[in-house]
Amino acid sequence: MDRPEINADILLVDDEVAIAKGMQRVLESCGARVVLAMDGCQALEKLGERDFDVMVIDLVMPSLGGMEVLERVAEEGLRVVSVVITAHVSLETAVEAMRRGAFDYLPKPFEPRELILRVERALNYRRLRDQAENSLLELNTSRTQLRTIVEAMGDGVIVVNVDGLVVLCNPAACAAVGYGPSLHEPRPLEEVIRSPELRRLIQLDVSSEDGCHAAQSGQIQLGSDIYMVQVFPIETSQAKFLGTVAVLHNVTDLLKAERAKLKFMAKVAHELKSPLAAVQGFLKVILRGPQQSPEQQRDIVLRCSERVEGMVQLVRDLLDLSRSEALPRRNIEPVPVAEVVAEVVEMNEALAADNAVRMTVEVADDLPPLYADREDLFCLLNNLVSNSIKYNLPGGAVRIEARREGEGVQFVVADTGLGIPPEAIPRLGEEFFRVQSPERRGIVGTGLGLSIVKRTVAAYHGRLSVESTPGQGSVFSVWLPSEFQGEGAGGA
Ligand code: ADP
Repeated sequence: MDRPEINADILLVDDEVAIAKGMQRVLESCGARVVLAMDGCQALEKLGERDFDVMVIDLVMPSLGGMEVLERVAEEGLRVVSVVITAHVSLETAVEAMRRGAFDYLPKPFEPRELILRVERALNYRRLRDQAENSLLELNTSRTQLRTIVEAMGDGVIVVNVDGLVVLCNPAACAAVGYGPSLHEPRPLEEVIRSPELRRLIQLDVSSEDGCHAAQSGQIQLGSDIYMVQVFPIETSQAKFLGTVAVLHNVTDLLKAERAKLKFMAKVAHELKSPLAAVQGFLKVILRGPQQSPEQQRDIVLRCSERVEGMVQLVRDLLDLSRSEALPRRNIEPVPVAEVVAEVVEMNEALAADNAVRMTVEVADDLPPLYADREDLFCLLNNLVSNSIKYNLPGGAVRIEARREGEGVQFVVADTGLGIPPEAIPRLGEEFFRVQSPERRGIVGTGLGLSIVKRTVAAYHGRLSVESTPGQGSVFSVWLPSEFQGEGAGGA
């Protein structure tokens, strides 16, 4: 006979040794790995040790019978598939065995091929059952995963069925529409979403009966926030309409940033408008011809040049301002602080001389290495030092200090100048903010210097503080950490 291949672990349980050995021979000749047990107790022992694919078990045995073993197998949820054999087979016995979990039965006496056939069927059943269980498990896992993802999403997700019931509203959506902390069961749309505008956007699709359910979107205000809402129809593969899914994306910050950008552009245009108009006016005067004396012409060109100089400074400051954002392209290296301070002092010597201001420098010898972009540090200190000279009084003093403090460097720029009124202090660092006072008339500036300082300090995760007494002077303090902690840290 052509023996089929049985690649499986089989437990044979029979108290009649001759029959048990006979079955073992038949199954082993097909390649099966067979273990013998002589009664129910031994069978349970073997089943406790390892998993078997199939168990062929006699029902009538001394001590523990086959029925009891089947019961224990079912109780313990063992995966083995059982085939019962009995000499006194009756329909009731077979039904009872099946009820206790047996897959098939084999009446005695039987031919080897009948045994093989039953074992093969049992094995097929086991494979199919394992496959089905695995697919179910996968399905369950992917459903749970999907649910977890939707729950954790930063964007709001709302699903509405054809009956107008909200069947899913994730926490972000609940917060957006102001509905409880979460949705546990389907609730009417009107109850969950109070905004008529949002309801209309979602409902349009739900109530559409012409079979055309196009996706749509709109911007909607919910509370103090603005959301970009996109609504998509949910359809089966046969185009049966099941409901809609709405995705709510909070665009409040985006819109604010957009508005701030436009406002900033308008301010830049405004700042450039008057010097440009002045230069244009001066040029027209000169073009008008020889009415002016050479001295007058020289005076006009000088004033023209001053305004151009102001615009050049504005463009420089704008470039520094854009640099001062936390950009990953910083060139981070250990900066020789004393050298940079000396460069800043040199840069401001002429200005100090013009204003009759004396500068003193104190740089400690034990400074820790300062990991930064040299240009950033120069720009930051240069703005503070030039301010301390510009807003000083003739005969005044400026002290520039750098010392170790904690895990970083403390810079101090102190002056004996005009000082800053207390109400202006919170506005320092605001783009284009300039303190207005009679003593400041004629002092050239863009109102961007301290914005650059403030942004640079923030980009380096440092600290900035100002103390000032009008009429006595100001102290600007900047602390920068020794290690660079901004974007691109570690890769410098
Ligand atoms: P500006 O280009 O006008 O100097 P800043 O942003 O550097 O712009 O400074 C903003 C304003 O803060 C200045 O207009 C000035 O009035 C005031 N200010 C800055 N530094 C000092 C200082 N050391 N002493 C007095 N006032 C200062």
